[in-house]
Order: sequence, then structure tokens, then C-alpha cells
Amino acid sequence: MYPPKFDYYRAESVDEALSLLGEHEDAKLLAGGHSLIPVMKLRLSDPGILIDIGRISSIKGICKDDDKVMIGALTTHTEVEKSADLPAALPEAASWIADPSVRNRGTVGGNVAHADPASDLPTVLLALDATFHMKSASGERSVAAGEFFTDLFETALEENEILTTVEVAAEGAGTGSAYAKLFNPASRYAMVGAAASVSVNGGTVSNAKVAIGGLVNCTKRCAAVEAALNGGGTDDAALDAAAKAVLDDLPADEVIGDMHASAEYRRSVAPAMVKQALAKAVARATS
Ligand SMILES: Cc1cc2nc3c(=O)[nH]c(=O)nc-3n(C[C@H](O)[C@H](O)[C@H](O)COP(=O)(O)OP(=O)(O)OC[C@H]3O[C@@H](n4cnc5c(N)ncnc54)[C@H](O)[C@@H]3O)c2cc1C
Repeated sequence: MYPPKFDYYRAESVDEALSLLGEHEDAKLLAGGHSLIPVMKLRLSDPGILIDIGRISSIKGICKDDDKVMIGALTTHTEVEKSADLPAALPEAASWIADPSVRNRGTVGGNVAHADPASDLPTVLLALDATFHMKSASGERSVAAGEFFTDLFETALEENEILTTVEVAAEGAGTGSAYAKLFNPASRYAMVGAAASVSVNGGTVSNAKVAIGGLVNCTKRCAAVEAALNGGGTDDAALDAAAKAVLDDLPADEVIGDMHASAEYRRSVAPAMVKQALAKAVARATS
């Protein structure tokens, strides 16, 4: 299938991309092209102009600076998968995205800007309390993950903004994170994805952050699970009870179903995915 016709520009810097965005109303940024080109082929998007940002080196790569790690928006899933500097949940999630060809081209920025409810990175970045740094012609701003993912395929990014960097806290001793997913065997997109980050001190959990994806319009934090975890223990019964609380975070009428899995099925699988993520995160925090 062919995409609709479009004009192509290649930007060599973020500022050049911003000025091209300002000049062309009907333009879209092109990063790895692994979400945008398929939706153009399906005629779900017809931008007319593509601005290729794929070669802008200033927003590529991963850089650890004391207690924080900066991920350039153009960093590929493969680079995330191979990084030893990132919280463990991120390389883990990246390693399960699709296949090597998608992981070698697809980027962190494209993944989160596209905000597919079945994508993996939004769920992990929400559980890690990431901060998203963006630039437009009028300046720079930063948005917390909790405000970044707003709805189905929608984020806080404005039309004229470029996501430049995603910032996460480095994982210190006593803290662990993990991702678990039930994936669609054809695409590997998440039917249910769960991410967790916990601190464990003397057998007690604190600072629990848990997010779920694939079931609702956009990834969401699981307040009931977090409340059940914080101040509690790390034994199997405690993790099991906390994981089951995810059903309180997922009202049945908010869960979405499609041709791949019904809403009822996804909701019934959610506690098991949360439990898997919690058990791995606790093991990493205490190892
Ligand atoms: C067969 C297949 C299987 C897949 N399986 C999975 C999976 O299992 N899990 C998963 O998470 N993903 C999966 N994906 C999606 C993949 O991870 C994509 O690479 C990713 O979602 C989009 O990244 P991209 O760099 O290709 O973005 P593009 O397709 O180039 O862009 C996507 C959107 O983001 C915008 N954009 C891109 N970069 C920026 C930026 N820096 N600032 C602002 N806007 C920007 C673009 O304008 C566009 O609207 C799959 C894709 C395919 C084709």
C-alpha cells in the first residue's frame, strides 16, 4: 500500500525543524517512521509535508548525569535495550518491542508522541515519573509524565513543538523497576502492559509507582495498587493483594476491547501482569 503524496524536507537541527514547522501548516515530523508511515498508508493521516528529524544528532543517545538520565528523543529502542544506565524497566520494555527492524528504527520520541494505548514506553515512563522536555519557536518547557499522556493518541505536545529529551531518575540502591506484558503475538504490541518501580528498605515498600497500559485510552497510574503497597511487605501474599487492587483502578466501563482481546479478558489479565511486574521490581530492589 502506498502512502498519500507528500513533500519531504530534512532538518539538520532542532531549530531548523522548528522553523520548517512554522513555515508549513500541514507538516508532520518524521522520526523512525514506524508509526507515521503505516497510518499514512492506511489513510488515517495525510500530512502533505514530512519534516525528517531522523539525523539530528543533538537529540540522539542516552546520557547519565549523577542521579538523572537524559534520553534523546531520537534514541532508538535498540539503544534503550542495550543501556546499562537506565532504570531496568526501560531496557526490559524496549527489548520486547516488535522485532529488530522496528527496534532499530523506532525512536523513544516517536513512540511517546504517537501515544498508542498499546505501546510499551508510555506505561514504563509513567511509572518512572519521567519528565518530557519540549521545544517550540517560543521557547522550551517541561511536562511531567502524569500530564503528558492525555488521551487516545493524544499528548501534551502542541503542533509546533518538538520533544527533545525524556528525563528519568537513575535507579539507586534499594530501588527496582520492571515491566511485564501480555503481548499480541502478531505485532508484539501490549494487550496488557504493567510497569512498577518500588523502593524497599528493611522489607518495607515505599515510593511505589505502578502504571498500566493497553486497557484504557492512555496509560494510567494505579493509585489503589500503590496505596496497597506503600508501607507493606514484599512477601507473595502482600504483592498478590496489591496486584488485585488494580481492578479498583480499572472501572469495567473504562476498559477498551478490540478484535485482539475483549475488555473483559484484558481486565481479568491485569492483576497477573501487575503481580509479575511487582515481583521483578521487588527482586531487583533487594538484590
Ligand atoms: C510491526 C510493528 C510492531 C510494533 N510493535 C510495537 C510494540 O510491541 N511496542 C511498542 O511500543 N511499539 C511498537 N511499534 C511501534 C514502534 O515502537 C514505533 O517505532 C514507534 O511507536 C514510533 O516511533 P518512530 O520513531 O517510528 O516515530 P514516527 O513514526 O516517525 O512518528 C510517530 C509520531 O510521532 C511524531 N514524532 C516523532 N518524533 C517526534 C518528536 N521528537 N517530537 C514530536 N513529535 C514527534 C511524528 O510526527 C508522528 O506523529 C510497532 C511498530 C510496528 C511497525
